[in-house]
Amino acid sequence: MQGVEKNTLGLYLLGVENKENKMNVTFTSYDKAQSTDASLIGKEVHMFEASGLGKAPYKFTYYDDLKGTCQYCGHNLHYRFWLNSADGKTFHVGSDCVLRSGDEGLIKIADAIKAKIAKERALERFKEQVAEVKNLMKEHSGLLSAQPHPYYGLTEKHSLYTSFENSLYWSGKSNIPKLLKRLKEVISNL
Ligand SMILES: [Zn+2]
Repeated sequence: MQGVEKNTLGLYLLGVENKENKMNVTFTSYDKAQSTDASLIGKEVHMFEASGLGKAPYKFTYYDDLKGTCQYCGHNLHYRFWLNSADGKTFHVGSDCVLRSGDEGLIKIADAIKAKIAKERALERFKEQVAEVKNLMKEHSGLLSAQPHPYYGLTEKHSLYTSFENSLYWSGKSNIPKLLKRLKEVISNL
């Protein structure tokens, strides 16, 4: 983390006030390899601990996408990150508050989860678009099969339909939106 000193206990002293939530505590984040008691560094406490969510350090347990609000800031969440505190309390916060906490270990986990979610969404979107292309082609197969292939013309083996079939076969996540758009345009002009 830029401009942050790591002390001999493996703790990152951020030296910033959590003004947004008016906690007025200088908080400390924890390297994921460390699990040192916050009391070791005097009054500096993790912002989750300062708000009564349980003692640091925290262990990530799981995430879910059930609706809820962040137990730290009260904002509505798309994803809840469930944490266990060192003194056995269980609570959930949003990824924004994980970031705001400066807790390196938790941030790494939250980032990895966010990347995983984004990947899953992209795959889901890809599958939806492939299904849409297939449905449109099926629905308009008669008209598409009667139109010439852009390179080979209309032959026994080639038609506009087979051209789209071929494009779909080679289509990846990045170009499926273009293919779908082109197909819709072609259909609207048939
Ligand atoms: Zn929050």
